[in-house]
Amino acid sequence: MSSQASPVKVYIRIRPTANFAHEIIECLPDQQTLKVRSRKDSKKGKRNNQLNSWVFQLNGVLHNVSQEDTYDRVARSVVLGAFGGYNGTIMCFGQTGAGKTYTMTGAAETYKQRGIIPRALQEVFQEVEQRADHTFSVHLSFLEIYNETMVDLLSSLKKGKGSNSGVLTVVEEPGGGVSVKGLSLHLVHNEEEALNLLFESRSRTLSDAKYITSKLNLVDLAGSERLSKTGSEGQVQTEAMYINKSLSFLEQVILALADSRREHVPFRQSKLTHALKDSLGGNCNTVLVANIYGEAAQIKETLSTLRFATRMKCV
Ligand code: ADP
Ligand code: MG
Repeated sequence: MSSQASPVKVYIRIRPTANFAHEIIECLPDQQTLKVRSRKDSKKGKRNNQLNSWVFQLNGVLHNVSQEDTYDRVARSVVLGAFGGYNGTIMCFGQTGAGKTYTMTGAAETYKQRGIIPRALQEVFQEVEQRADHTFSVHLSFLEIYNETMVDLLSSLKKGKGSNSGVLTVVEEPGGGVSVKGLSLHLVHNEEEALNLLFESRSRTLSDAKYITSKLNLVDLAGSERLSKTGSEGQVQTEAMYINKSLSFLEQVILALADSRREHVPFRQSKLTHALKDSLGGNCNTVLVANIYGEAAQIKETLSTLRFATRMKCV
């Protein structure tokens, strides 16, 4: 499985802000490098004035980049790749509020602020129309993974093929593919039908969700802030634990895919990686977008997101 280098591309997108910390975060003109300067973490009770600096090299740094240009730089080739038979995954991660949902779905208010999902749907149907020599069927599913439980967000629309109120499970198919058994698939004929399906359904938890368009996986991950920061109990702590675990399982899978000596890729450790088994690494287009704040107050989480991003890119 892991004989090929994993073609994972990693982008950073900085949420625009009036108080962008120029003294801390510097975007180099190559649009691929971020320099971060910050004080070292101070040990308990001790002041530490030592400055540290880090350089992060990515496939692209998006700062003050419009939704349209973000789609062009990050997503278009993955979407078109699906027409060439390549499965694809585009995934956003980063702390809560940094812009994951804005990047994936966009702001509802204006057309210009549409995110990757509506733009991908538009492009898919444009291509379908242009390739009149082929017949296409486009199916849409809308899946949420919450605390390692999968929920079909379109299950109430009974028209869907395969809908069933039972428990959803990831099943492996002969030939290496995977599918989610019990997840409803909805045949859509045009952009409007697809958008209606997507925006009629409401997330059960109003949190983050995973979308599957055919085998184009458009994923909005849950916020990545560390457990210590949430400092909370009960349900919130359980959520944070699952979120952190699924990010670390994702990392293990991507690193294993990149290492040609590794026979075993631990896809089955989490629902997310298992469901994406045939759409990560190998012959697939995989794009990760790390969403960060540009503000000094968030620098700790920003560094943690950037470190995760660079580890994913070292492949
Ligand atoms: P997340 O999903 O990571 O928790 P959101 O996408 O909900 O964060 O973003 C938080 C807020 O910031 C939203 O109001 C969103 O519209 C705004 N926002 C995020 N990124 C951008 C951006 N690149 N341009 C304009 N507004 C943004
Ligand atoms: Mg969100």
